[in-house]
Amino acid sequence: MTSNAAEDGRILGSLGSAEGKGIVRIEDRFETEIDDVWSALTDPARLARWYGEVEGDLRLGGEYRARVFASGWEGTGRVQACEPPLRMLVRGKETNETGGNETEVVLTADGDQTMVVWEVRGMPLDQLSAYGAGCRSTSKISATTSPGEIAETTPRPGGTSFTLPINTWRCTPGSWSRLGWMRAGVDLGGTKIDVLIIEREREVLGRMRRPTPTEGGAAAVVGAIARTVADAADAAAVRVDQLTGVGVGSPGAVDTAAGTVGFNSNLAGGWTDPYPFAEELVQRVGTRVRVANDVAVAAAAELELGAGRDLRSFLAVWWGTGLGGSVVLAGRRWEGNGAAGELGHTVVKLGGRICPCGRRGCAEAYAGRAAMEARARQLHERGQPTKLFDLMRKTNRDRLTSGVWERALKEDDRLAHELIDDAYDAIAAASASVVNLLDIDGIVLGGGLGTRFGTNAAERIRAKMRPHIFNPTRDPPVRPAELGDDGGAIGAALLVT
Ligand SMILES: [Zn+2]
Repeated sequence: MTSNAAEDGRILGSLGSAEGKGIVRIEDRFETEIDDVWSALTDPARLARWYGEVEGDLRLGGEYRARVFASGWEGTGRVQACEPPLRMLVRGKETNETGGNETEVVLTADGDQTMVVWEVRGMPLDQLSAYGAGCRSTSKISATTSPGEIAETTPRPGGTSFTLPINTWRCTPGSWSRLGWMRAGVDLGGTKIDVLIIEREREVLGRMRRPTPTEGGAAAVVGAIARTVADAADAAAVRVDQLTGVGVGSPGAVDTAAGTVGFNSNLAGGWTDPYPFAEELVQRVGTRVRVANDVAVAAAAELELGAGRDLRSFLAVWWGTGLGGSVVLAGRRWEGNGAAGELGHTVVKLGGRICPCGRRGCAEAYAGRAAMEARARQLHERGQPTKLFDLMRKTNRDRLTSGVWERALKEDDRLAHELIDDAYDAIAAASASVVNLLDIDGIVLGGGLGTRFGTNAAERIRAKMRPHIFNPTRDPPVRPAELGDDGGAIGAALLVT
């Protein structure tokens, strides 16, 4: 086949017709090897990320059922020819339709690039536009009309003229081989929004950070996230609508199925009612959005790609402003009814210190950075000497960050050592209780303080757990999270499948 697209790398599409049916022919050059393109075209898991849902058998003679995202086409098909990785011919039939159409895809390797010629024959004329990769050849249409208008196409030589409903037009980007791989992960924190554009599992294409709005409530946060995603996409040289979706890890009470976030005391002045977070963000980014609890997504990332990947069951301990947790059992996150894993609010001392949640004796009352800071302030005001607050001012902080705690420990500040020791005691008691209850294979330690103190903290916690472990043959490892500060955003991106 001729490959005009080889000359300049553009998608070249042509629309034609024969016997009252449409023909779409698309040529494109992919900057990837032929096997990768073949997989993008034939692996149902990859197809589901960009093209449509395909269920069934895609081998020679196999039958399948499909739904194409762009056109809404739904029907069944049969593989007439299959010569991996060079050629595939399928015959499809829309539900309740007689006749049907034929699609032929031909791949040609060109060094580490691949040429693809894709031809669909026998399409009803009004459906042609959905096969929008041809849009580059008719960019004049897109430029001069708006959705809903009807435009006349210029037929390829020999074809007949027909009309094209622009409102079903969808432009497909040039580098198709990336489709199904790129997604945005958003780590929404109390002070900052971190966005990564990720290809495949964890290759970072672009990143952007912006402060979390301090007022304006949920709407301001959603607006800031949308802008940060757009900036990160710019940095990665992609468009937001090329992304498979946007995943968000948010603190607070998140209902993933409903896409809502509620009861957030720390974000943008706070909000109490469940806010339709996913729905609002979809409006602004124009691609799919999923939202889940921030600790849960970070734990999922460690499970898939990090320190938990060879542990069947583990407890993720997220030690930062609060003390978060997430339980993985037999390779799956245990969600309970949605709020499982609140390690910070397991009781380590009956009638103990007051926790930020208002109850007494929770682990977070001893180990959460916010609680530790409140305690330090109280003791300092009562006359206990400490460098903590001097260090805070010197580094222009308005609270005791992980870095401030680290410096105070290095300078042998007694109060800092005492409070960090208390924190280790509380984390160890809570974690050992989980081990006694669930007999899990290990602990993965992350979060702001957990990441900062890393291996040292992991060793301290493991040593402090031992006296509490009921079964003396059990000594589960405590491992620092491997994905570090990017874990939250990577895990959020993994939400989008
Ligand atoms: Zn509590």
